[in-house]
Amino acid sequence: MAAAATQVSPTAQVSQFLNRPKKLLIGGKWVEAVSGKTFATLNPATEETLAEVAEGDAADIDKAVKSARMAFEDGPWRRLTPSERGKLIWKLADLVEKNLDEFATLESLDNGKPRLIAAVADVPLAVDLFRYMAGWATKIEGNTIPISVPYAPGSRYFAYTLREPVGVVGQIIPWNFPLLMAAWKLGPALACGCTVVLKPAEQTPLSALRLGELICEAGFPDGVVNIVTGYGETAGAALAAHSQVDKVAFTGSTEVGKLILKAAAGNLKKVSLELGGKSPNIVCADADLEVAIPGAANAVFFNHGQCCCAGSRLYVEKQVFDKVVEGVSEHAKRIKLGSGLDPSTEMGPLVSSEQLERVTGYLESGLSQGAKPVVGGKRVGSKGYFVEPTVLVDVKPDMKVVREEIFGPVVVAMPVSDMNEVQTAANDTSYGLAAGIWTNDIAKAHSLAAQLRAGTVWINCYNVFDAALPFGGYKESGWGREMGHEVLELYTETKAVCVKL
Ligand code: NAP
Ligand code: MG
Repeated sequence: MAAAATQVSPTAQVSQFLNRPKKLLIGGKWVEAVSGKTFATLNPATEETLAEVAEGDAADIDKAVKSARMAFEDGPWRRLTPSERGKLIWKLADLVEKNLDEFATLESLDNGKPRLIAAVADVPLAVDLFRYMAGWATKIEGNTIPISVPYAPGSRYFAYTLREPVGVVGQIIPWNFPLLMAAWKLGPALACGCTVVLKPAEQTPLSALRLGELICEAGFPDGVVNIVTGYGETAGAALAAHSQVDKVAFTGSTEVGKLILKAAAGNLKKVSLELGGKSPNIVCADADLEVAIPGAANAVFFNHGQCCCAGSRLYVEKQVFDKVVEGVSEHAKRIKLGSGLDPSTEMGPLVSSEQLERVTGYLESGLSQGAKPVVGGKRVGSKGYFVEPTVLVDVKPDMKVVREEIFGPVVVAMPVSDMNEVQTAANDTSYGLAAGIWTNDIAKAHSLAAQLRAGTVWINCYNVFDAALPFGGYKESGWGREMGHEVLELYTETKAVCVKL
């Protein structure tokens, strides 16, 4: 009972965090921005300010990069054994798990998503990712390689490879899964022995700052993780361009991804990009519709459609088109919108007024071009950035709502006659992040999966994520894969060592 009495309730913990000053984490210390400026982060359900946050810009990025460089070259971090590195990452996972309620509430307040969803998805996935990557720290191995050297007959060599950390890494993340995106980025970088400057999205800086506190508590050496909150055009651009950064890892829009690539060219830093998508979700006539219909609804409405892999183009075989559209629309109608903190809420607001304008702008464009909403199509209320879950039909392949990423709760549904047609239509996009297939025909499922140009194909499921499963895009959806062992390639350099015997 005594222990219970001293426990701080999650709500009190959250208000204590909100009341603490929100500074930048540089070299193990919390510091104000050089300019002294701050910016407000809002609750998108109420449009009220949650906290003022330090507004880092190029000067702060420079300080943070120098601190990460020092920690990489001279600090205790490089002297830790892989096992010690792994233990620190595992400890961070434990600390995040211990504070799961607080993180779920912060994600809900800052991003708008239902707290209950953050508590079962965002936060546990972040914990699991850190644990998975903690395990990799001791398993990053090179090879021994038998070499022949044709111009040196008779000579003998012992050749091997080392996998070394790529160095100082700049990481720039979006607002849709703030904590999880920070984990996807930090976990592998730390497992590989890199040091990091992380720039969270301006809309959702809070969970990264709380994570920074736990990084300090876990005992990571100073300067290994630096966190600079601020705007993309200033702090983000400076990080992507900085000559002392060896690699930049970015998740966000394809448009900004291209800017990152240009900025990185100055010192030819390595680049990995997780970008946008317009993912096809294909329902075949032979699918189990009792599973496929809610699956198709979840594929697009999860996280309010603010998922890079949202199944936002729904292709349905003609015979079952009306039934599937009606079913998905019924689901859409039943989704309860509200504040993320209300336990009955199933969908919160979009993250910001810009996002509201973007999504409603797409809706207007679709309607003006002749698309018809079976359900939804409008903003809800005038306070908070709520939009109705929307199903559009009567769409044409060249409409903006079919070609461009809306990043909101909007699906375009199109009938298809056969598998050849669907394969061509599904691949008719500049993106290639994910795809879904619903069918009971095993051969059809696998042959279609092979034809789709996408980094992930889900069959009879959607939005299944795991730390062990690589994720990333074909075409303009990005470069490189996050998670799984593939991500370790992004944070290591291979050194070939050759010894004459
Ligand atoms: P965004 O505008 O590209 O922003 C993403 C991040 O980049 C933010 O931290 C942003 O900072 C920063 N940024 C903006 N301009 C920059 C610049 N010129 N130089 C450097 N950094 C800059 O994307 P968003 O609208 O926030 O996020 C939605 C997009 O992310 C969607 O396209 C979605 O598909 C994509 N996404 C992809 C994945 C994936 O894994 N493939 C995952 C999630 C999201 P500020 O926010 O402070 O401006
Ligand atoms: Mg916010």
